[in-house]
Amino acid sequence: MDLELLERELAEAGEPGYRAGQVWEWAAKGVRGYGEMTNLPAELRERLAERVPLSALSVATESKADDGTRKALFHTYDERPIEAVLMRFRDGRRSICVSAQSGCPLTCAFCATGQMKFGRNLTASEILDQALHFRRIEAVDHCVFMGMGEPMMNLDAVLRACELLPDLGITHRRTTISTVGWVPGIEALTAQQMPIRLAFSLHAPDEALRSELMPVNDRYPLAEVLEACREHHRRRRRKVFIEYVMLAGVNDRHEHAIQLAAILDPKVFKVNLIPYNPAPTNLVPAGFEGSTPKAIEAFRAALAERGQPVTVRLTRGRDIDAACGQLAAAN
Ligand code: SAH
Repeated sequence: MDLELLERELAEAGEPGYRAGQVWEWAAKGVRGYGEMTNLPAELRERLAERVPLSALSVATESKADDGTRKALFHTYDERPIEAVLMRFRDGRRSICVSAQSGCPLTCAFCATGQMKFGRNLTASEILDQALHFRRIEAVDHCVFMGMGEPMMNLDAVLRACELLPDLGITHRRTTISTVGWVPGIEALTAQQMPIRLAFSLHAPDEALRSELMPVNDRYPLAEVLEACREHHRRRRRKVFIEYVMLAGVNDRHEHAIQLAAILDPKVFKVNLIPYNPAPTNLVPAGFEGSTPKAIEAFRAALAERGQPVTVRLTRGRDIDAACGQLAAAN
């Protein structure tokens, strides 16, 4: 819901200031129409139904994976494609993965999103509308900014959306912002007050290999990013999660694990190894292959032996191209 449009329309209708809050409260509860907003005058409900769409996004397609994961492709008012995902876990957790941008201006070699055209930053309302879409399906309790785009390049809108996520049932502590290592964004996240989790897509333990895989490393080198992460931990007392995508023969060797353990402090960082997901069929494959389960296990064990907390990420939604790095709308 375009919250600015809502406020303008309410003001124009001469409504009292508290109305916007009432409408938002209903929206955040997952209502499907103004008809359900029973504490609003009937006339106002009709007026809003005509002038303020419940969602600023239109749903283009929706798919459901065998594991219960759902992916939605939306279009913004100016026809920008964005995708978001709802993940269902056996322990009852319901986690949504949302996009901060349509496309992505960065060009990480292994990521499908980087191959599509960059559109633009999303507004806070457009970010919230992805979450509300799934909230209308069921209760949700976790949110990760791991969809399309780089959230730290659109941090103001991301943080404005985060401020309202608790109304949907998602606390700040259960919200994670993932970054390629955009240092000014990490610093801004450290400086604000919400206890949001920081995740850093590290992917290579030395500067040269990292620059090859992630050109952004030339602008913000690994050493600088790690220092910004340590400062985040010092000030916020929350562990920083490290994402590390396992690419066969590229970054998955024993020496890489040793190097990685050497640059990370187990008290500051927790590593999450991500099995590589193949690029969706509509994209030219970039030539990467995922590490074997055996290689991933060996890498995990090497880190664990050195006292580094480490887990392997459960892959969700791969059969509908909804897994990490697979979000890339065709148009
Ligand atoms: N731009 C932010 C937010 C996106 S998060 C960031 O990069 O952190 C998406 C995560 O999936 C990132 O860690 C990204 O590097 C990873 N990823 C990209 N392509 C992938 C692929 N094909 N398989 C598995 N993970 C991938």
